[in-house]
Amino acid sequence: MAEKVYDVASIGSGPAGYTAAIRGGEYGLKVALIESAPVLGGTCLHVGCIPTKALLFNAEIWDHLKHAAEYGIAGIGTPQLDWAAVQKRKDAIVTKHTKGLEFLMKKNKVTVISGYGKLTGPATDGIHTVELTSTAGEVSQIKAKNIILATGSYARILFEQQPDDRILTNIEILALNEPPKSLIVIGAGAVGVEFGSIFRSFGTEITIVEFLPRAVPVEDEEISKELTRLFKKRGIDVNVGCKVERIEKTEAGVKVAWTTANGKTQEKEAEKVLVAVGRGPHTAHVGIEKTKIELERGFVKVNEAQETAEPGIYAIGDIVAGLPQLAHVGAMSGIVAVSKIAGRPFRPVRRDRIPGCTYSDPQIGSAGLTEAQAREKGYEVKLGKFPFAGNSKATIVDSHDGFVKIVSDAKYGEILGVHIIGPQATELIAEAVAVMELEGTVDELMFTIHAHPTLSEAMLDAYAAVEGMAINA
Ligand SMILES: Cc1cc2nc3c(=O)[nH]c(=O)nc-3n(C[C@H](O)[C@H](O)[C@H](O)COP(=O)(O)OP(=O)(O)OC[C@H]3O[C@@H](n4cnc5c(N)ncnc54)[C@H](O)[C@@H]3O)c2cc1C
Repeated sequence: MAEKVYDVASIGSGPAGYTAAIRGGEYGLKVALIESAPVLGGTCLHVGCIPTKALLFNAEIWDHLKHAAEYGIAGIGTPQLDWAAVQKRKDAIVTKHTKGLEFLMKKNKVTVISGYGKLTGPATDGIHTVELTSTAGEVSQIKAKNIILATGSYARILFEQQPDDRILTNIEILALNEPPKSLIVIGAGAVGVEFGSIFRSFGTEITIVEFLPRAVPVEDEEISKELTRLFKKRGIDVNVGCKVERIEKTEAGVKVAWTTANGKTQEKEAEKVLVAVGRGPHTAHVGIEKTKIELERGFVKVNEAQETAEPGIYAIGDIVAGLPQLAHVGAMSGIVAVSKIAGRPFRPVRRDRIPGCTYSDPQIGSAGLTEAQAREKGYEVKLGKFPFAGNSKATIVDSHDGFVKIVSDAKYGEILGVHIIGPQATELIAEAVAVMELEGTVDELMFTIHAHPTLSEAMLDAYAAVEGMAINA
């Protein structure tokens, strides 16, 4: 019998790989999805987006309960945190969606193959061969006309220390038996900030230590400032411009030493430390050296269709050079790659059309250029800013901090960037991305009706604020 040849084989089943596989199935392609872990879904579903957002929901409810009497809810007494139940709920959400993925693979006739996939070199007569090693160590081959590399990323660690029950990455911290009394978070990017926020809500003493001069350094400077202010208000100790020199275990926990921006050495002891200093690409040990694929500091270089320099091999998700490591970016890059393979139309992933979300309290949602980036690019910039303090729905939901900031081009009124910090910022940003995709202008948006009372009215007021004409502030 002739050996089966797939139209496309994806190595890795995170949001990038599984999305590519589903869309491939929808296009009628013969798709194989290769995964070395025992479950589908990758970092995002098992130790990333989904479990963290589940915990953030618990944290939000817990914080609301602290104000129960104020909200007119009597008779609660002293709320007790049942951490085992919190973990159980989080795990149930992950399991539900893992099963959902299995169902979607069947529905779209995707063949799921368990094992570790490795490239073997260029195609022969247009057919690629992937070497597959099963968990039992048996080696076999899979043939496909196109390969999509979607192997994802791992948490970088410091000083080559192995994570354990005190020195944590995103994996260990999600499986704690109880919230720690104190936690030092190294890194104030989205991952560090979200875990700091979660555990602060549950009473942990949080110290954040960031190397760069500001928290959430990829965001607009005003957003960084506001987050730091609000975190300090929540009792979170935020230290920026600090270089961590040492992490050592002590009798009671772990001690971290760092050099401050003005050259002083500082030390702090805590029960645990979370290392959240970025994620490296899984591009070693996948046979890249046998191909023409080009790397940039370990990340794969691709063109607008996600094609690598090796014909018939694509790269998507966290391993791609020059794209932010976000699940939705991975998913869209997968759709682009598989559309190209299927000969269907597609629009390339644009760096300036990506929503960046941090789901802490306060939330951050942003898209497009920051004020500084717009100025660097030579735009004559016109800004609009509207505080949630002027929004009636923000009062209703008792969340008045933060603002919406619009960065627009003075010449044509085009919206270049939107930066939101405050209630539901991660939901509100969707409008901004759609607006930018359609090249919306301030004039058009000032006349776009937003329902009342909603948080989205803060967007309308912020657009109008560009012309100095916000209604509610
Ligand atoms: C704590 C945390 C929270 C996050 N929260 C968010 C969020 O809220 N929103 C957001 O957009 N992003 C978030 N992210 C980022 C998001 O998780 C990643 O961007 C996303 O998972 C990347 O998807 P991917 O498919 O490229 O890789 P991954 O999800 O890492 O999946 C790669 C898969 O490939 C498999 N694999 C690797 N090598 C092989 C091989 N050789 N053979 C077979 N299988 C292989 C792995 O086992 C894995 O299952 C978060 C990340 C972390 C760590």
